[in-house]
Amino acid sequence: MKAHDGMYIDGSWRPAAGTGTIEVTNPADGTLLATVPAGGPEDIDAAVRAARAALPGWAATPPAERAARLGALQQILVDRREEIAETVTAELGSPLTFSRKVHAAVPIAVCASYAELAAEYAFEEKTGNSLVLREPVGVVGAITPWNYPLHQIVAKAAPALAAGCTMVLKPAEDTPLVAQLFAEAVHEAGVPAGVFNLVTGLGPVAGQALAEHEGVDLLSFTGSTAVGRRIGALAVSGVKRVALELGGKSANVILPGADLKKAVKVGVANVMANSGQTCSAWTRMLVDAERYEEAVRLAAEAAAKYVAGNPLDEAARVGPVVNAKQRERVTGYIRRGREEGARLVVGGAEPPEGQQHGHYVQPTVFADVTPEMTIAQEEIFGPVLCILKYEDTEDALRIANDTVYGLAGAVWSENEEEAVAFARRMETGQVDINGGRFNPLAPFGGYKQSGIGRELGVHGLEEYLQTKSLQL
Ligand code: NAD
Repeated sequence: MKAHDGMYIDGSWRPAAGTGTIEVTNPADGTLLATVPAGGPEDIDAAVRAARAALPGWAATPPAERAARLGALQQILVDRREEIAETVTAELGSPLTFSRKVHAAVPIAVCASYAELAAEYAFEEKTGNSLVLREPVGVVGAITPWNYPLHQIVAKAAPALAAGCTMVLKPAEDTPLVAQLFAEAVHEAGVPAGVFNLVTGLGPVAGQALAEHEGVDLLSFTGSTAVGRRIGALAVSGVKRVALELGGKSANVILPGADLKKAVKVGVANVMANSGQTCSAWTRMLVDAERYEEAVRLAAEAAAKYVAGNPLDEAARVGPVVNAKQRERVTGYIRRGREEGARLVVGGAEPPEGQQHGHYVQPTVFADVTPEMTIAQEEIFGPVLCILKYEDTEDALRIANDTVYGLAGAVWSENEEEAVAFARRMETGQVDINGGRFNPLAPFGGYKQSGIGRELGVHGLEEYLQTKSLQL
């Protein structure tokens, strides 16, 4: 595949300071897709300097003009959406149909929302005898993961640029190609040189250098809780702002009386999507004792339809996981689930039939999972559903909240009021009622150890602003 042999810094592609490289491979068959440079501290420093130099000009650019650049960027993403879908499918392994519907479409919607918000938002307002100014925080260091690679970039870049910030992005090692495509689109959209910069590289090298750099005012990180902790500590020691979007172990609570068939079907689809590599996936399904066995049977039927297959095959509903390490991790959890006494209903740790070459994992369902089991507590990040039993609604709430995480969740009920009342008591940042529907304006982010800060909509924009008051 086409790849740039350089970093996008200060408006042009320039060679990396060092000679290290990263091989980008296709998780469906292990073939080499491209090689990109592995940047280091010198490249990060050049990118941060460019972002710093561009900051006064971009911060002073009228919001309407910033909105116009985001509008142009959105149009380019629309024009290139098939290429985006194909790139994400190649480097991540998502089925092409899912890449079109989600990996390409969601960033377009998010970019559109910020083109509108930048034009409408009140960057200044009077309160009493004060004029309150909402000014850009400054230079943003963004570190993103591979699981929704373009969405996670756009969810940071679009609000940052709308706010008047400048940015240095260090994308995930596994998915740098769609990040390069995004840098091309930013360039084509007429965003001034230095406003957006891209350095590909390894997390502990380029990522660490970005997190430590004194010229960065805000670190925005999406990824694992382990790395998030390090980034948070570095940010605090450098008195930088920090936004962390981390892991999850979200509960899908099916209340007695809810439409069980629909709730289970949508719940299974939610967990299998993107091979289970979704931080907000409803990985714990909670069902009342009376309908428990029926739910297990329905889940087994639904999961059996998720046959793992080549992501380019239009019929494939689940592709491989991103790399060999991730496959090891997920199958390790499947073994652990069996050892700890959970009942394996569908799937298992062996590769799916006929898929011995790529990093495939069988879509897996566990029943008789109890809250203290490892698979009920730790994030698996693979196509693995755990079904737990509850005695009554209070028990369901206790189990739902019995996790260090709090990113998302779902509640199903025949009575919307009952579902909303239950959702209010959940310790989590986002809850879908009876299936919900994606809203690019709704704030997204974690309670507890799922993170700090919010992305999307006006809450996402305000992460990149700081206030100044002038007393008149
Ligand atoms: P990861 O934490 O290993 O990597 C994420 C990013 O951090 C990558 O760009 C990586 O290169 C970089 N990185 C790694 N070590 C670093 C270091 N020492 N210093 C600076 N940067 C470093 O996570 P991953 O394996 O890429 O992603 C999977 C995890 O991300 C899962 O736990 C998942 O739940 C979480 N996630 C959360 C959200 C969310 O919005 N809350 C979204 C997607 C993924």
